[in-house]
Amino acid sequence: MSQLIDIAHPAAATVQRAGGKMELVGRDKAEIAGALVARGLGDKEARMRASQLWNWIYVNGATDFAAMTNIAKGLRTALAEDFVIARPEIVSEQISSDGTRKWLFRFGDADAPTLPPVEVETVYIPEEDRGTLCVSSQVGCTLTCSFCYTGTQRLVRNLTAGEILGQVLMARERLGDFPGLGRPTDGPVPTGDSRAISNIVMMGMGEPLYNYDNVKKALLIASAGDGISLSKRRITLSTSGVVPYIEPTGREIGVMLAISLHAVRDDLRDELVPINKKWPLEELLEACRSYPGVNNARRITFEYVMLKGVNDSDADARELVRLLARIPAKINLIPFNPWPQSPYTCSASDRIEAFADIVNRAGYASPVRTPRGRDILAACGQLKSETERLSKRARDAALASG
Ligand code: SAH
Ligand code: SF4
Repeated sequence: MSQLIDIAHPAAATVQRAGGKMELVGRDKAEIAGALVARGLGDKEARMRASQLWNWIYVNGATDFAAMTNIAKGLRTALAEDFVIARPEIVSEQISSDGTRKWLFRFGDADAPTLPPVEVETVYIPEEDRGTLCVSSQVGCTLTCSFCYTGTQRLVRNLTAGEILGQVLMARERLGDFPGLGRPTDGPVPTGDSRAISNIVMMGMGEPLYNYDNVKKALLIASAGDGISLSKRRITLSTSGVVPYIEPTGREIGVMLAISLHAVRDDLRDELVPINKKWPLEELLEACRSYPGVNNARRITFEYVMLKGVNDSDADARELVRLLARIPAKINLIPFNPWPQSPYTCSASDRIEAFADIVNRAGYASPVRTPRGRDILAACGQLKSETERLSKRARDAALASG
């Protein structure tokens, strides 16, 4: 029996709107130092203070300048007047019967505080020896992959780098990954004294490569050695196939790549993943072959959702193996996760096994991903929020009221 615990969490540190103050989360060190110089600090001191702030924010999880004991009291007060270290508001937190946790986070728009706040979902998947945070990059999605719940929500807006990192920082806080915090008692985290969040996947709501600059900035900050310090090998960015941004992702961000493949013929992929009409299979696979840093130790993951009677035949499996032959690849078969009114059903388990056998025999190990968090709509492709895109008129009216 699946058991659902629904936790409202009103006590969470809520700083929705920066109220004219500058948000520090999501700024790189040079930007923070620049802002300090603009407020009268000398270059050298600004650089030193920026490093201290960075350490407080990303290593210690501080949100309050008063706690920053290595900064003189007068300066702490001045910083609090001009800057803010925000966290998203937690609208809800749910825990699945399998320990998967899903948050609904709310963000105000710091640049346009009269606009209504937006909401996104973030998922935490604990395993024995690792914990993976599935992070959103956009509110909704411009793309309309036919099997994906997020695709039924129009794009409202891109998340900022600070909002992308805000999901990570809030989750680390809730899971006790900052010094002095306890582990949660209402759900599992990996055993041992490793971190609760050891891996990040950009596989939540949205297409990360349609929000490239913010995603790049957030991931470079998340992997910075003197901050959150997650290895780039433990960060995976998943794309539906925005070909022009694949090479820059490898060269400038350097994280692991996952491709939402889902079909091995252009006619079918055009239907399932419509971006294929713009960048068809051959171009996509060519970009994968030349992904900077790809090799047998750093393989590209190809995700393939198992849709009954649509893409799950033996012939599809053989074609999949053939297509990926010259690419250092891992294959991830994802049983289709249903959502309200979804137009597909998941392939039967014997069909998935037969498909997986063909893939296995070609040398790919354990390719079937166990669905996690289905009972709370936290599994792949089940994320969505109520936030709606405003009409231009409503948006203009909201902006004018400010
Ligand atoms: N927009 C990016 C990131 C989302 S990742 C992308 O498409 O790659 C989420 C993964 O879950 C993608 O591989 C997506 O194709 C897959 N997915 C979407 N809907 C699904 C569903 N209903 N069941 C299983 N997987 C799904
Ligand atoms: Fe957007 Fe990815 Fe869903 Fe496609 S699968 S609609 S790209 S979130």
